[in-house]
Amino acid sequence: MPTGSAFTHDSDFALTPVGRGARLTAVSPTTTANSNRRRDPGPPEIVEVAPSVYAYLQPDGTWWINNAGFIVGPDRVTLIDTCSTEVRTRALLAAVSRVSSNPIATIVNTHHHGDHTNGNGLAATPGATTIVAHHDCRTILAEEGIVHYDGVWEPVDWGELPLGLPTTTFADRLTLWSGGRRIELRHPGVAHTTNDVVAWLPDDGVLFTGDLVFHGGTPFVLMGSVQGALESVEFLRSFEATTVVPGHGPLCGPDVFDVHERYYRFVLDLAAQAHAAGTPALEAARAADLGEFAELSDPERLVGNLHRALAELSGTERGGPIDLVTAIGEMISFNGGRPLACCA
Ligand SMILES: [Zn+2]
Repeated sequence: MPTGSAFTHDSDFALTPVGRGARLTAVSPTTTANSNRRRDPGPPEIVEVAPSVYAYLQPDGTWWINNAGFIVGPDRVTLIDTCSTEVRTRALLAAVSRVSSNPIATIVNTHHHGDHTNGNGLAATPGATTIVAHHDCRTILAEEGIVHYDGVWEPVDWGELPLGLPTTTFADRLTLWSGGRRIELRHPGVAHTTNDVVAWLPDDGVLFTGDLVFHGGTPFVLMGSVQGALESVEFLRSFEATTVVPGHGPLCGPDVFDVHERYYRFVLDLAAQAHAAGTPALEAARAADLGEFAELSDPERLVGNLHRALAELSGTERGGPIDLVTAIGEMISFNGGRPLACCA
């Protein structure tokens, strides 16, 4: 790992009241981690979205830069997701420890993607921390381990990341308790992936969505289902949340679901036209008028999304096998043949 991380050695949080809670800021975990950084996305923010409920928001929400969260109970901390790299995960753990000295008794993984699970092994104390996830999340992590996808993204310094597999899994729903606070875990069906889970705090109106929501970023369903993701929008609305902690991007409210619905319909329409005309995904993506979606980050995801939509139109089941190598390779082609931008 890079030594001398500014975050772990020099950070000081600034605490200022924001809305319903408090907002803490810290030195960016990438400030001195690597002098070759193409851009510094800035420090994470810790926002108390309800009493003792914290959103851990990492700008700028692009590839591999996810959000997490934690809930402080009388005897424990419940962590919602970890981070992609050792430095980022250690920064998350430092933030948690500054708020509470209680042990991290439970980690919830919102899905298997490495930006949400790579830090599991660092955050968990063996024998003392329960890692909770959907069955498929554990299956995929056990099969694939920590995946670095060398060459797909701009180089990332991952650090040392011991694998941390879920120890409690479920199919549809599970309720956790943090003191008297309910944390309801619910699976929407295949959407962003086969194993998405949201964490719903009914007494607080807070919904941690995982990557069912990219706020400001292009939704990405290559490993899930476009139709399933469209249906997940109604699932998300059904909670009537007042505060939405997205998987990526700034804190938001339920209005963020609307752009996701429009985007999935846009992809389905494009795919239907491409399927009828026999147009390949990359060609259809290049010819597409992105309209309002042009302002979303990581636009190359359209190529992957079209691959999934076209596969579904050809009879592939939701979340079923797909040629990921071709799809990701064509996302790079869409990006001008360059590795995908990443400042994790
Ligand atoms: Zn994801």
